[in-house]
Amino acid sequence: MHFDIFTLFPAMFAGPLDDSIVMRARAAGLVSLALHNIRDYAEGKHAITDDYPYGGGGGMVMKPEPIFRAVESVLGLAPRAAGEPEAAPAGQPIPIILLTPQGRCFDQSVALELADHARIALICGRYEGVDERVRRYLCTDEISIGDFVLSGGELAAMVIVDAVTRLLPGALGAEQGAADDSHATGLLEYPHYTRPPDFHGWRVPEILLSGHHANVLRWRRQQALLRTALRRPDMLETAWLTKDDLAFLESMEREQDLAQRLQADL
Ligand code: SAH
Repeated sequence: MHFDIFTLFPAMFAGPLDDSIVMRARAAGLVSLALHNIRDYAEGKHAITDDYPYGGGGGMVMKPEPIFRAVESVLGLAPRAAGEPEAAPAGQPIPIILLTPQGRCFDQSVALELADHARIALICGRYEGVDERVRRYLCTDEISIGDFVLSGGELAAMVIVDAVTRLLPGALGAEQGAADDSHATGLLEYPHYTRPPDFHGWRVPEILLSGHHANVLRWRRQQALLRTALRRPDMLETAWLTKDDLAFLESMEREQDLAQRLQADL
């Protein structure tokens, strides 16, 4: 899988994507990234990439020409002709994604959808944002990483690269799996413990020390259900639940002490 990232601040990407899972996936050839400095595609001595907003108001707006030129040249697209009405160069399979707080919200299902593509382009905005014509006539998708406003799309792009990369087959070590992760199953994940079994008198739940695999599996499932019911009840509406799951949740509701029960088990 290949990411083309278009940004005015390529140096920001050094670090977060050079370690751990993403770096290992890069080293193994599962994923590759190319950082494209939008400024390199700006014309004139000063390579200007932003300008004042029409209509006034504060802040600057990223100009369309350098972004179109950068994306068209890197992706090998024919330059959009004047007057072409349609967004999204037709038949072109590479998603061209604008990072914007106005886009559809990024979540695990969007990450899975993106992980199916061989190549993705991410455009990072700055300042007040990008000229609207980039959104309308160049991009094929718009993604927000949450209902807050960042100073630029770079951190959002890194979030997407990280979340998508760990879904690629082989990206996580053999021991680890993405299958149980929070959100992958439609539930929050069960709690984790490691050694020592007793820390400051806080003991690991006995069931995890029992070596009884089936009981451990049941405990983990129930903990995942409890946590989700307590913290993110909205997720239970769409999670895929078995009859046993539903019976367990009903029995918990009857006990009316979900929170206490969860605390006691942690
Ligand atoms: N004035 C714009 C926000 C500009 S923030 C508005 O109100 O919609 C500057 C840039 O940061 C944006 O162009 C976008 O690329 C990025 N950005 C900010 N918040 C983001 C978010 N929640 N998700 C993805 N990108 C975001």
